[in-house]
Amino acid sequence: MPGLADESAILRPHKGRCAHCRSDIAVPATYAHGDFIKCGTCGMQHKVVRGEGVKLVIADATPLKEALRTNDAMVERLQDELRGARRSFGIGVNGLGIGVAYAIYLVAMKEHALDTQLATKAVMAMVMSGIVLELLNYFFLAKRQRVKRLQADIEEAQAQSDELEQKIRESSRF
Ligand SMILES: [Zn+2]
Repeated sequence: MPGLADESAILRPHKGRCAHCRSDIAVPATYAHGDFIKCGTCGMQHKVVRGEGVKLVIADATPLKEALRTNDAMVERLQDELRGARRSFGIGVNGLGIGVAYAIYLVAMKEHALDTQLATKAVMAMVMSGIVLELLNYFFLAKRQRVKRLQADIEEAQAQSDELEQKIRESSRF
């Protein structure tokens, strides 16, 4: 009998989805439009929206907004840290100064002639010390890893912020 089947379908609890943790929430038929129902998994309070079927929207977005603020602050802090880590690259530029100092030393202390040989020696010193300093910075100080890790952390935190923003937007539509 199709009529009976339809009736039991109406009385059966509907399955809603938590707008926060995405787990299923059974919404009993006795819950009317505008009633509150809590997610059994994460405790988020929802409002029942009955229209075509049943929909659950977050009843109070305040905790989400707070989480978003905290998360945005974390993104900012991580970006600051990343800027700092990146700034300390380029230490190899100091090799330039070392090369010039070496040339001055050769001329002043060793009475080196101002010739192309001196220039070559100075350039060699610049390049070598520049490379050594950059390598020290890169590998020994593990700056590279740190920058990578920070970038990944920032990406993750930003994705989280985006998700929170979307949930807040969704909850304010009702
Ligand atoms: Zn939940």
